[in-house]
Amino acid sequence: MSYAMETFDPEIFEAINQELERQTNHLEMIASENFTIPAVMEAMGSVFTNKYAEGYPYKRYYGGCEHADTVEQLAIDRACELFNCKFANVQPHSGSQANGAVYAALLKPYDKILGMDLSHGGHLTHGSKPSFSGKNYQSFTYGVELDGYINYDKVMEIAKTVQPKIIVCGASAYAREIDFKKFRDIADEVGAILFADIAHIAGLVCADEHMSPFPYADVVTTTTHKTLAGPRGGMIMTNDEDIAKKINSAIFPGLQGGPLVHVIAAKAVGFKYNLSDEWKTYAKQVKANTKVLADVLIKRGFDLVSNGTDNHLVLVSFVGKEFSGKDADAALGAAGITVNKNTVPGETRSPFVTSGIRVGAAALTSRGMKETEFEIIANKMADVLENIEDSELHAKIKDEMKELASKFVIYDKAIY
Ligand SMILES: *Cc1c(COP(=O)(O)O)cnc(C)c1O
Repeated sequence: MSYAMETFDPEIFEAINQELERQTNHLEMIASENFTIPAVMEAMGSVFTNKYAEGYPYKRYYGGCEHADTVEQLAIDRACELFNCKFANVQPHSGSQANGAVYAALLKPYDKILGMDLSHGGHLTHGSKPSFSGKNYQSFTYGVELDGYINYDKVMEIAKTVQPKIIVCGASAYAREIDFKKFRDIADEVGAILFADIAHIAGLVCADEHMSPFPYADVVTTTTHKTLAGPRGGMIMTNDEDIAKKINSAIFPGLQGGPLVHVIAAKAVGFKYNLSDEWKTYAKQVKANTKVLADVLIKRGFDLVSNGTDNHLVLVSFVGKEFSGKDADAALGAAGITVNKNTVPGETRSPFVTSGIRVGAAALTSRGMKETEFEIIANKMADVLENIEDSELHAKIKDEMKELASKFVIYDKAIY
């Protein structure tokens, strides 16, 4: 019996290869996605998937962990170097797990969380009602003004009224720089813990292309698969030894069992990439490309939330227009450009329909696209949005986008 995937499981083999084709032929502009490097995929597909390593480096509950210790310690050391902090836990299986561990470590059930409203750009795990964070804790929210910016004076007022145990800053759909120092002042004023979730912007932060949450935040979480372009996973960082100990216990044995050593190995490889000079160039290019996207869309008459961008994404608002975010998402999808619908300030439609889209530049920048390509793509997006019902035009643009994409092939095979 052969266990090579092609012969052992042709259905899955076929689906994986079709996914490679999809990723190659479409323009991926979902702001939370990226393309990782083959070395990261090699680590993820490695023999470490077989290994149980409950515990932490050099303090394990299983034998045979000496090589698991090596990779986890390297991942931790590289993470600390990358973000200039003292402690890192690289075991969270995802960003949501990381956030759950922060609350489990630092709060009691029904303590008060103050986070950014999901419909204003926050994340489910920042206290949203359908999430554990809104069920197990008393959650309160702040949002953005109609101009698309966080009003820090207002956050201060809300914090004084709410008196939260923890303030969460960081977002999934916010195009402007987050001022962690101002959040620190707010947290100090009300005696709250400051928790920064940099899941979206971490790849910019580690390249000095966005203000760092250190030294302002008490605890910081991130995903490793968004702008960091590493494997799918989460991480928690702090400079506070007491918090670090609580976090470690909250992850294991609190919330998780055995760590995903193969993913931790891949995180270490990803961090090595993030520490390179090449990465600094990449992060700069992400911002430059996003700026072109914003400028072209504004020139073509579209409303951008906050009227521009400081980071890797733009939010386009269709408030007052006949078509919705859902319509725009579908039309762009038909034109080979993948984005996602998103609520925007002054929203009048339901979260399933919305009046906006979120568009990010990180993934296409990883494929090597620069300002020239982003100018072409942004103009094609505008063409689609101006002709939202012209399916013939969408099909024509889809062919053009496939042609453009074919010049920026990122993988030569589906499985590394
Ligand atoms: C994506 C995201 C998360 C959650 O990450 P998952 O890996 O999807 O669980 C948490 N916080 C923010 C701000 C995010 O954007």
